[in-house]
Amino acid sequence: MTETHRAGTDSVWAGEEHLFSEGAICLPVFNSVTFGYDDMNEWFDVALGKKKGYIYSRNTNPTVRPLEEKIRIMDGGEEATSFSTGMAAISNTLFTLLKPGERVVAIKDTYGGSNKVFIEFLPRLDVEVCMCDTSDFDAIETEVRKGCKVLYLETPTNPTLKIVDIERLAKVAHEHGAIVVVDNTFATPINQRPLALGADLVVYSATKYLNGHSDVMGGLVVGKKALVDQIFHYREITGATLHPQSAYMILRGMKTLELRIQRHNENAMRVARYLAQHPKVEEVFYPGLETHPNHDIAKKQMRGFGGMLSFSLKGGWESVVTVLENLKLAHKAASLGSVGTLVGPPRTTSHVELTEQERANAGIPESLIRYSAGIENGDDLIADLEQALARI
Ligand SMILES: *Cc1c(COP(=O)(O)O)cnc(C)c1O
Repeated sequence: MTETHRAGTDSVWAGEEHLFSEGAICLPVFNSVTFGYDDMNEWFDVALGKKKGYIYSRNTNPTVRPLEEKIRIMDGGEEATSFSTGMAAISNTLFTLLKPGERVVAIKDTYGGSNKVFIEFLPRLDVEVCMCDTSDFDAIETEVRKGCKVLYLETPTNPTLKIVDIERLAKVAHEHGAIVVVDNTFATPINQRPLALGADLVVYSATKYLNGHSDVMGGLVVGKKALVDQIFHYREITGATLHPQSAYMILRGMKTLELRIQRHNENAMRVARYLAQHPKVEEVFYPGLETHPNHDIAKKQMRGFGGMLSFSLKGGWESVVTVLENLKLAHKAASLGSVGTLVGPPRTTSHVELTEQERANAGIPESLIRYSAGIENGDDLIADLEQALARI
C-alpha cells in the first residue's frame, strides 16, 4: 500500500490490504505459537532473517504484524513493533535506549507509570534522570544542551492537558545528538503526527483511543528503523509480547479511529466551552480553548484538540463527589479514550500517590475532574453535566 492515502483510508486498509487465507477479507486470529516449514532451506532463511516469515509468536505473529504495519503507515514511520501494554512499550523503549551513565531529560507531567520508571527504575540502573517543568521550554532546552541520550515528551499531558512544543524541542535535541521519544496516546495519529514534527520514536498505549473500546490492552512503538529494531530485540527477548487476539481487537478498533476521534474532538470542545461559562466551574483545562496558555502551539501541531479535558469545581472536594455521583452518562473509572465517557478525580486515581502538596506543585487542583469525552451525542453529555452540576 502506498503512503499517499489519507488517515480515514489508512484506518481501514493499512496493513490489511490483501485477502487472507481462503479469501477471507478479515484478518484471521492466528492462535499459533509456532510456524512450521516443509522446506528446510526456507525455514533456515526465515530463522536467519534472510527471508520474511514467522518463526515463534514471542517475536511476531501474522495477526500482530498487520497491526504494526497499520500504525507504521498512519504515523509515517520506517518501522513499528508492538507490546502487551502501553507501559511495556514505554519501559522497553527506555530500557533499550538508556545505559548506565547516560542521561535522560523528560517533562514532569508524564503519565503516572512512565513517571515511576523515571523516578524509581532508571536511577537504579545508574541512568541520570532530569525532569523539567513541562511548560518551561527554555529550561528543557537548557537541560538538553547539557547533554542527554534521550529527550522524552508527552503532549497533551495528563491530567491538566499541557501542550509541549515538539518541533522546537526536537530541533534542539537533534543539535545535541539526543533521541526524541513522544508519547502520543492522547492525540493518536489522527490529531498529531510527532514523527513529522521531528520525533524519532512515538510510543502508544493502544489500550486507549487506538483500540477505543476499553476491552483490551496493548502498546506500540513506531519510528526510525534502526531504533525500533533494537527495541523489538529487547522485547522479543524480555517477552512483553502482544497477544494475537488483542492485536486483532486493536486492528478492529482502529478501523473507526478517524471517525471516533472526530467525534471525541467535537464532544470535548463542546463540553469544554459549556463548562467554561458555568458559574460552578472554577477552571477548564482544554487545549482547544483560546484561553489555554499554549493554544497557539496546539493549533500549530495538532489537527484536532482531542477528547480529553479536565475542570476544577468551586466548593472543593464535596462538589467533586456530588458531580461524580450524579453523572449518569459517564463511567466513574480509571482509564480514558473509550467510546463511552469516563470520568475520575486525579486526586484518588491517576495521582493518588502524590501528597496534597505534591499535587499542588504539579498544578493539579484538589477539585479537579478528568473527563474523557466519549462518542455519545454531545447534547446528551451536556444535559447530563447540567443536571449533575445543578446538585452542587
Ligand atoms: C494509559 C497510558 C499509558 C500506559 O498504558 P497501559 O496500556 O495502561 O500500560 C501510557 N501513557 C499514557 C499517556 C496513557 O494514558
